[in-house]
Amino acid sequence: MTSILKISNLEKTYTSGSKKLTVLEDINFSITKNETFSIVGPSGSGKTTLLGICAGLDKPDSGTVTLNGIVMNSLSEDERAALRNEHVGFVFQDFQLLATLTAIENVAIPLELRGAKNAMDRAKGLLEKVGLGNRGNHYPSQLSGGEQQRVALARAFANEPKILFADEPTGNLDAETGERVVELLFELNKELGTTLVLVTHDMELAKKTQNILTIKGGKIASLTRSTHV
Ligand code: ADP
Ligand code: MG
Repeated sequence: MTSILKISNLEKTYTSGSKKLTVLEDINFSITKNETFSIVGPSGSGKTTLLGICAGLDKPDSGTVTLNGIVMNSLSEDERAALRNEHVGFVFQDFQLLATLTAIENVAIPLELRGAKNAMDRAKGLLEKVGLGNRGNHYPSQLSGGEQQRVALARAFANEPKILFADEPTGNLDAETGERVVELLFELNKELGTTLVLVTHDMELAKKTQNILTIKGGKIASLTRSTHV
């Protein structure tokens, strides 16, 4: 089995003034290609920090992060950005769409960044997949939370990433809307064969993934793996 993400002896500390706060300590795990994986734990346990480091948005203080065979620690900011654009998709709790761009333009950005042909046509196809084919010219402010998150899903899958990270993707949505977003997330994931890493405090959602990593106080409390879901 090929590991797409390998985390070894990871440690992350935040310093404010003279105070040092160790947020992640002794974190070791790996994720196999095409697996679904969730990270659960109480608020403040370090989930978002861990996801940011896994996705190459942030750097650890020590330990290594190997993404698709590339050790990210030694890369420059620009190199990490290029790696992210090529291999990584990200979905945030608060959607993080660009307010000055329309839905279709938001989805087209990652495609345009890598000079893809027909970026706008492909963005349109992706919006159709998430049921928003007729909302392409609307700005984020004209869309509901659930619709904005569906645009964010379309954007995250635009470059057909090898691995997709989602941080509490339903955290700002009501239960019913959240369920629709989760269905779409798993559907697209399956269709495109992406590895999915999900942060959630919702055990019901976590149970939809093959592996559940629980962190408490910045340390791994347990990792349960199942071969079928
Ligand atoms: P979770 O996502 O599980 O709620 P976080 O990763 O956001 O947890 O935060 C873990 C801990 O790190 C918390 O105590 C939080 O206050 C702290 N923290 C997060 N980001 C920063 C930062 N930029 N500077 C200082 N402390 C931070
Ligand atoms: Mg968080």
